[in-house]
Amino acid sequence: GRKLLMIPGPIEFEPEVLQALAMPTNSHVAPHFIESFGNSLELMRKVWKAPGGQPFIVAGSGTLAMDMAAANLIEAGDKVLVVSTGYFGRRFKDIFDRYGADTKLLEAPLGEVVSLEAIEKELKTEKYKALSVTHVDTSTGVLVNPEPIANLAKKYKVLSILDGVCSVAGEEVLQEEWGLDVVLTGSQKAIGVPPGLALLMASQKAMEIWKNRKSPVPNYYADWNNWLPIMKAYQERKPSYFGTPAVNLIVALEAGLKMITAEGMEKRINRHRVLAKAFRAALSAINLQILPEREEIAANTLTAVYYPKNVDGAALLSKMGQNDVILAGGLLSEVKSKYFRVGHMGAVSANDLLAVLGALERSLQDLKHQFEPGKALQAFQKGHLPSA
Ligand code: PMP
Repeated sequence: GRKLLMIPGPIEFEPEVLQALAMPTNSHVAPHFIESFGNSLELMRKVWKAPGGQPFIVAGSGTLAMDMAAANLIEAGDKVLVVSTGYFGRRFKDIFDRYGADTKLLEAPLGEVVSLEAIEKELKTEKYKALSVTHVDTSTGVLVNPEPIANLAKKYKVLSILDGVCSVAGEEVLQEEWGLDVVLTGSQKAIGVPPGLALLMASQKAMEIWKNRKSPVPNYYADWNNWLPIMKAYQERKPSYFGTPAVNLIVALEAGLKMITAEGMEKRINRHRVLAKAFRAALSAINLQILPEREEIAANTLTAVYYPKNVDGAALLSKMGQNDVILAGGLLSEVKSKYFRVGHMGAVSANDLLAVLGALERSLQDLKHQFEPGKALQAFQKGHLPSA
């Protein structure tokens, strides 16, 4: 039967986006396509709140966007501070290390964030070139506030790189106001476009640092020397070629970004907040515990939830599947089998989450979890119902 895909990416996509994806493939230099690409670059600046930023759209997943940031901005021997709240912080360390960086991993305890004091202490002790932060680590569902960390980066003259793969267009991102040098994501999460595009916005300062590199970028595909002229050409609505762009995906991206800006960033971020908060209240009403230690650091794009003590995790996910809702298992190695994840970003509506909660209540009842049936739905409705 028809199943609801509620994992933290890929997500359920808007019909308009899927329709755009299905249009006959144009030449990458066709006037129509040049227009779509140029529009997408302009719309990215609006979504990222970075009117003076340099956007990059390259075929690849979110990991390519991370790789591209590291390849272009880091040189062998550079010191990089990785502020980690889980699996994707660790991945960023691996990527920086691959380019010969001298990387320090500053990792939060499970379900927590790294304190600003700990970050400042590091920045005071060592001369770092860059720091990276994961806005929402999809493995823990922990939300970090990037603004004060960006302020620290400015204070110590360190480049700031935000992994926004699970946040851009779902959590608040004000790249220029906060002074973030790189904010990157992939298409398949809150942007709401099928997987396959790496999206990155670089500040003018980041571009300066890249231009003044002493060594060539040791990665052919990710090198901005190859991609910057292409982005500039599309911005100026001129034909160009380096590597064939993912034509259909970019047409879909234009449709997706148009829907995002039509909704309005503030309204969109608020929708994510309201739904996520009501969802957490619903989980707690049926005695489920979330992985983030505090409500203030719980992400609004996904929720990581511990399986109840007496319930077999694999059995619950499989029951949910039988009940037509696809959820994701755990990802962080040390607690992988102990929790599951629910994505609620992009086109997500209250009805989607009611469907998840209804299926969850049925599944948990079958698996003999102790709770009062109906409580999750009731709590969600109470938390959510907007007066307007
Ligand atoms: N960073 C974060 C925070 C993510 O959630 C993900 C994807 N789950 C990635 C990076 C990597 O993105 P991709 O899977 O598209 O390569």
